[in-house]
Amino acid sequence: LPVYLLVLGMVGSGKTTFVQRLMVHLHKQSSPPYMINLDPAVQEVSFPTSIDICDTVKFDQVMKFIEKAQNTSKYVLIDTPGQIEVFTWSASGTIITEALASSFPTVVIYVMDTSRSTNPVTFLSNMLYACSILYKTKLPFIVVMNKTDIIDHSFAVEWMQDFEAFQDVLNQETTYVSNLTRSMNLVLDEFYSSLRVVGVSAVVGTGFDELFVQVTSAAEEYEREYCPEYERLK
Ligand code: GDP
Ligand code: MG
Repeated sequence: LPVYLLVLGMVGSGKTTFVQRLMVHLHKQSSPPYMINLDPAVQEVSFPTSIDICDTVKFDQVMKFIEKAQNTSKYVLIDTPGQIEVFTWSASGTIITEALASSFPTVVIYVMDTSRSTNPVTFLSNMLYACSILYKTKLPFIVVMNKTDIIDHSFAVEWMQDFEAFQDVLNQETTYVSNLTRSMNLVLDEFYSSLRVVGVSAVVGTGFDELFVQVTSAAEEYEREYCPEYERLK
């Protein structure tokens, strides 16, 4: 079975650019992916999608297309609406996610804009959002720190690995929000400890080999934990 990569993230984080780069990367490896665009805002699709939500009203048709794709592609890439709420918290988004996850090995890729996460409070709110999606989908999860051509993601990795380092940055502020943030950080420490994180630049194309190491690991997690009956499906 192909691995389904469900790409989520806030508007402008670079999901569409990331999906396009992923496609180029896989083409180079002679493993062209199957592309699904669920973003109605992408008017002119600059890459050849196999399915475009604009052409397809009923998801059962989409599922039929997908089933046909299974023999031809190793990966299925799913781009989602720019405004994440449209997908993550909508009925149709939930139905699509559950339909996929109950049938195929599915991995969530949460794309974030690293260059807009250098403020600790913004960073933490982004991570809380990622965490809420993890709880909603309960699927193997990869955080992709995008736009590393603008700023290296090492500062964010340090904040995630070193609780004190993040607290030190926060200690420079004493507002209500930063007090709340301190408590939140404590909670997120657990979330971080098992999180897969990869830095990429969707524009330049760096970090994608490491990404696929993480994708393989996440797909194994799906087999192991999400779907114990997976062996029977193969
Ligand atoms: P989406 O709303 O999440 O689908 O985001 P888009 O893919 O449309 O990208 C939003 C903006 O970020 C566009 O102007 C992209 O050119 C830019 N962008 C995306 N990825 C990168 C990246 O890796 N580096 C830089 N510098 N800009 C990027
Ligand atoms: Mg987009």
